[in-house]
This record gives sequence, C-alpha cells and structure tokens, in this order.
Amino acid sequence: MSARTPFVVANWKMNKTATEAEAFVAGFRGLLPAPPPGVDLAIAPPFPALERTGRALAGSGVGLAAQDVHAEQKGAYTGEVAASMLADLGVAFCLVGHSERRRDRHETEEQFARKMKRLVEAGIAPLYCVGETLEQRDRGETDAVLADQLTALDLFGPDLPPGFVLAYEPVWAIGTGRAATPEMAQAAHRHLRTLLSRRAGAVAAEAVRVLYGGSVTPANARELFSQPDIDGGLVGGASLNPADFAALAEAAAAATAAPGS
Ligand code: PEP
Repeated sequence: MSARTPFVVANWKMNKTATEAEAFVAGFRGLLPAPPPGVDLAIAPPFPALERTGRALAGSGVGLAAQDVHAEQKGAYTGEVAASMLADLGVAFCLVGHSERRRDRHETEEQFARKMKRLVEAGIAPLYCVGETLEQRDRGETDAVLADQLTALDLFGPDLPPGFVLAYEPVWAIGTGRAATPEMAQAAHRHLRTLLSRRAGAVAAEAVRVLYGGSVTPANARELFSQPDIDGGLVGGASLNPADFAALAEAAAAATAAPGS
C-alpha cells in the first residue's frame, strides 16, 4: 500500500460568501465529524471567507487552503494577498497555477515559482496545478506540456518545496462533466512522478501526493482515487455541497482500503 496519505481538497473558486461557507462547514461537520481515518481534507474558500471558514473548521481536522497568493512579500500591489497574510489566518495549503488563472491572468511558470517560494517562506505548502488543454492532448503534446509546467520547480534546485502537493488537472476535464478516464489520469500521474523523480530522486518523487482534478464526483471518485499514482482529488463543483464532499472523503478512504476496486 502507498505511504502517501490520500488528500481531497475542495476548490470553491468564486463561490460562497463567508456566511454560506460557515453554513457549509456546519452541515459538513454534522455529516462527517472528522475526516475518515487515513484521509486528509482541506477546503479552499475565496479570500473573504477564509477567516470565518477557518474558525468554523477549528477542531474538525480539515485543513484551510487558499486559492492563490501574490509573488511578492508585500508592498504596492493593490488588490493582492501576501503569503504572510494567509499564514496569519491559519492557511496550511495554497493553490498555485490553477488553469483558470493561467487562462485569465496569463501567469507564467516564473511567477508560479516565486509564488511557491513566498508560500514556503510563510510555512504554507504549495499545491501546484498542471494540465494540458484538449488541443495539446490532440496534438500529442501532453507529456511535454506537463514537463514544461514543472519548470516552475527549477527555482528549488534538486529539492521539492516542503509539503509540496501536485495536482494534475486536464483543462478539458475541469467543470465540463467529462472526467479523464482512470487509465488516462493514471498515465499522466505516472509521467509526472517520473519527471519529479528526475528532479528530486525516486524517494522524494514517490512521497509526493499527486491529486487528480477535473469533474470528480462521488460517482467516479473511488475508481479514480484507486489508481496507484492518484492520491486523491482537487475538486471544484462537487465540493460545493456538504453531502458530496463527505462522499468524496469516504471514496478516498474506500479507495485506500481496497485499491483497484
Ligand atoms: C478545479 O477547478 O480545480 C476543478 C477540478 O473543478 P471541477 O471539479 O468542477 O471540474
């Protein structure tokens, strides 16, 4: 069995006010008072809901995550949020490089590298998102695109950032209802682990959690999470409902108990 603890992360994107987030957490804790044994959970609300979500999660065993961070430590960057501000709110994980930000903000690997550096300085684990578009997949470029996106790790030399988590999120699967097949996802995850191994060695690569993201639902989660190189999920739409998020946590536990089923 893998030594990696399965991890399911809710990415709420631009959904839920702080009041709605508190109601979600109350409902979720009613359904699942603690994460299933051997499963890690985290929720990434929008910035304005971070503080109240963190308070509502206190003692639940569910971690607090942020959806983004600025690449500088502080200063004249109107509207931006620094890693130290997130750490002060108890944020333990932060997404970097989500495809919606790659698409809308045209951020580069060099910026993602600096964001991860700021997070590490603040004691926050980066959750770095990679994935190809449909056009890139159709042109047979998936492996090369993933390799290129991992150049954001160059800044860390032969080491990986402390607590580093990787998420494979094929762009064509995000929010489309068209998840990758378990076989497709497993192949991409294996490739990513090979790339990590070339950078940081086999031991470090085998220890990194690689999450799958893209139209994960309670119906398909168990099969996806059962793949040998898939260590849980980064979930958008299906994480907005407490019962579905609880079911995803249970799916991660079931996949660990009986991999391949
Ligand atoms: C995401 O945005 O990270 C995501 C995976 O979204 P969805 O689950 O809705 O496809």
